[in-house]
Amino acid sequence: MALATLHGDIAGCTRCVTAGFLKKSHPIFRGAVGNRVMVVGQAPGALAHERPAPYMGNTGKTLRAWLAVAGFDADAFYGRFYLTSLTKCFPGPSTSGKGDRAPSAAEIALCRGNLDREIALVRPELVLALGRLAAVAFLGPAPLAELVGAVREAERAEHRFLVLPLPHPSGVSRWLNDPANRERHAAALRLLAELRGERGW
Ligand code: SF4
Repeated sequence: MALATLHGDIAGCTRCVTAGFLKKSHPIFRGAVGNRVMVVGQAPGALAHERPAPYMGNTGKTLRAWLAVAGFDADAFYGRFYLTSLTKCFPGPSTSGKGDRAPSAAEIALCRGNLDREIALVRPELVLALGRLAAVAFLGPAPLAELVGAVREAERAEHRFLVLPLPHPSGVSRWLNDPANRERHAAALRLLAELRGERGW
């Protein structure tokens, strides 16, 4: 009930419109109390609001393939993971024309209360932080190469949980072109597999 109320509040959120960052809001998220793992991305993609669920495009396909490597059933993705992001509305295309615009610190701050309320209610054991922006939001400033391949504890909304950073699964990211980063990514998926086995996710 409390989560349904929160989802209604987020669905009606227009803070970024009022602040002049977006022409209109279209918050995207999905999940339930009982999801032990929360996936926190940067922001939804351009077509997310036209689809019945988040992560239905190529980014989601890549993410589900990574999770399958860690032993998760890709077909159970939508029931098992709470899917959300730092900002919940598509920020628009990047000015370079390649990929999506990264949400600004001000937009992330405007949406922080929504994410805090999700964490407070869902109380995940693990946050999978996709991409550098999401990773540093939980773990503090550091290059992605220093964050991927390890699991750390974090606290937010008076709840302690583990954070396992992964690179962003979007096709725009070139981070995995570096062999050293591919090894960091493989190490992260091994850690995720160990945690899944230990905790029975
Ligand atoms: S990104 Fe977050 S704070 Fe901004 S309008 Fe969407 S839901 Fe609200």
